[in-house]
Amino acid sequence: MTLDSPVAPYAARLNRLRDRLRHAGLDYCFVGPSSDLQYLTGLDLHSSERLALLIVPQEAPAQLIVPSFEAAGLGSLPAGLRVVAWAETDDPVQIVAGLLRPPENGTTGTAAVSDQLWSIFLLRLQASLPRVTFCPAEATLAPLRLIKDAAEVAALVEAGARADDAFTEICALRFAGRSEQAVAEDIAALLRRRGFRISWGPIVGSGPNGASPHHTASDRIIAAGDLVVLDYGGGLAGYNADMTRTVAVGHAPEGEMRQVYELVKQGQEAGVQAAQPGITGQALDSVVRDLLTQGGYGPFFTHRLGHGLGLDTHESPYIVQGNTQPLTAGMAFSIEPGLYLPGRFGVRIEDIVVLTATGAQRMNNAPHDLVVVQ
Ligand code: ZN
Ligand code: ZN
Ligand code: ZN
Repeated sequence: MTLDSPVAPYAARLNRLRDRLRHAGLDYCFVGPSSDLQYLTGLDLHSSERLALLIVPQEAPAQLIVPSFEAAGLGSLPAGLRVVAWAETDDPVQIVAGLLRPPENGTTGTAAVSDQLWSIFLLRLQASLPRVTFCPAEATLAPLRLIKDAAEVAALVEAGARADDAFTEICALRFAGRSEQAVAEDIAALLRRRGFRISWGPIVGSGPNGASPHHTASDRIIAAGDLVVLDYGGGLAGYNADMTRTVAVGHAPEGEMRQVYELVKQGQEAGVQAAQPGITGQALDSVVRDLLTQGGYGPFFTHRLGHGLGLDTHESPYIVQGNTQPLTAGMAFSIEPGLYLPGRFGVRIEDIVVLTATGAQRMNNAPHDLVVVQ
């Protein structure tokens, strides 16, 4: 088979990268084991002291340099990708230098390097290729992944639906009298049972711990009357879910807790409604920030409104002040306002949305009204 089936888009993605290299005047792209490499080849390689590196030249076929004993287990490869296996006693950096078709006075040109390539390899590559200029590849690689294709959106829909499904069972867990860690382990188990690979969290921030946005889970014992911030997700066939709900333990809260919860809920809904093609990340952040500020709590919304998500839990586009690029159909990102009252409690609500031509399609549809757990 030389033609790509629709389920194997990798050769087309490599071509899109070559196109970008051409337009940017770059000769090579060096990609270390990362979600970028996975996006381009479908291969989920891991960083180690043995060099694995994808080299995409502007005009020649892509080459994947891997330790020989890993070459056999690679599985199906995109059309046109050549594998160069190096033996345990070879110097892979010299092999890379040799692959770049050196003219007699040494290889020249510009190589864009992915964010995730260990410095030990980059430093040695730079020493072996003294006439090559190295620059970051982020500006070249990130735009490739910004617009999700139909298969990627379907993967995000499935991940979101399974995270929603887990929330139903989470609401039936016992919270009062148990530690945050114990609840976090239960949530992780519910996610694994649904096929997720978990690489962070789950965040379980009860009572005053909820006021720390990236608090993970501690030995604090959860009590009736607490609000608990639950932020969880994971990877499903490579694509991520990431959602947050804040629940009340024992009984519905009154007073300021209730007021803050309703304000965050309103802000989150306003953010989803305002997520339309053409709005910038900055303007979308402002829609929600202004609403929370008018509600009297602006200073307590201490982080950006959201982040892109796909193969990585955090990727472009960032919904943040300073991002003046218009959002377009096919982009996937979170809308997750939170208010954090130091020493007291926190509230955050997060859904992933994918922009369509007409607005935001929610990947998460679990209820936004405050749920009381036991
Ligand atoms: Zn985060
Ligand atoms: Zn989250
Ligand atoms: Zn998030």
